[in-house]
Amino acid sequence: MKVPPLDLKAQFEVIQDDVHSRFEQILATHHYILGPYVAELEGEIAKFCGVEHGIGVASGSDAILLALMAVGVTEGDVVITTPFTFFSTVSSITRLGAKPYFIDIDPLTCNLDPNQLADVRATKVKAILPVHLYGQLADMEEIGCWADMNDAAIVEDAAQAIGASRNGRMAGSWGAAGAFSFYPTKNLGGAGDGGMIVTDNEKLAEKLRCLRDHGAKQRYYHDEIGLNSRLDAFQAAVLLAKYPHLAAWNDKRRDIADQYRREFADLPIELPKEDTGNVHIYHQFVIRTQKRDELKAHLDQAGVYTAVFYPVPLHLQKCFQYLGYHEGDFPEAEKAAAEVLALPIFPEIGAERFNIVVNAVREFFGG
Ligand SMILES: *Cc1c(COP(=O)(O)O)cnc(C)c1O
Repeated sequence: MKVPPLDLKAQFEVIQDDVHSRFEQILATHHYILGPYVAELEGEIAKFCGVEHGIGVASGSDAILLALMAVGVTEGDVVITTPFTFFSTVSSITRLGAKPYFIDIDPLTCNLDPNQLADVRATKVKAILPVHLYGQLADMEEIGCWADMNDAAIVEDAAQAIGASRNGRMAGSWGAAGAFSFYPTKNLGGAGDGGMIVTDNEKLAEKLRCLRDHGAKQRYYHDEIGLNSRLDAFQAAVLLAKYPHLAAWNDKRRDIADQYRREFADLPIELPKEDTGNVHIYHQFVIRTQKRDELKAHLDQAGVYTAVFYPVPLHLQKCFQYLGYHEGDFPEAEKAAAEVLALPIFPEIGAERFNIVVNAVREFFGG
């Protein structure tokens, strides 16, 4: 028996009647882009996050890009972020002609280390873009203090953290805007690409609704140079069918994480830690070991899917060479890139598949 990274088939069984009836409704009305399902989902996600507005867009990457545009990031600005993240956190900055200014991660959480903010030497810092990596929030209190003092807007890359919270406050609700992804593998995933921006700021929400639709409030009258980045009704239909299960699915992931921790307590690996006040939603369960590549090969052999998020930090990517960063600039991010390994974690894993993972990992370390 193989252990996959997730089981969308099992998940679909739970929601398929709901999806089918919503699809029929869309096919009867032919309202394919935005429309009532998207508006309903925007309302649900905003409420879930404890903010006023949700703006459905075409992907998580676009959600980040549009949020940066909406807070005014433009040519020549500086945006502070982490080098240990998915590509599009950083490409969203460079696409606007702005410069990513990396600071190293806290090895405990793999999130941007707020202690390093004191050393930032940059002018024109327009925004700070923390990433809630693996499903756990960055230290938003410290980041918020620094952003206030330096008059920088906060945009949260909450693509991996829908439903996560810190000291009672939801991911996405801390900054001027928060960006979510509905990529199919995410904790709330569509049947294709999709994303959402949440914000409590009415003006920003209005600007975002305009920017996602070619910058036109009124069709063919363009106030700004926007994008074509709208969520479609079929995605919203799938997401609305899944949304009522999200909190329970996230709880289930937390249970599985606890079980992994118990099973691996005596092994020479670093287990994921939750920072004080955080409710981690385990988009990924990421362990660390210096024998990462050997362990991964062993688990591949055993039919256990694993993945490395991420093997190359962004400051060392070929496409970002022009930024002038070098190996050694961010030692914690580079170390993490060499050591992290994500084990299968999904609500439908079940005892049998869970035990296969546990046994295969234990076997590698000699039982
Ligand atoms: C998935 C992800 C994105 C991009 O989302 P898409 O919907 O795939 O465009 C951005 N940042 C992080 C951290 C992600 O995990």
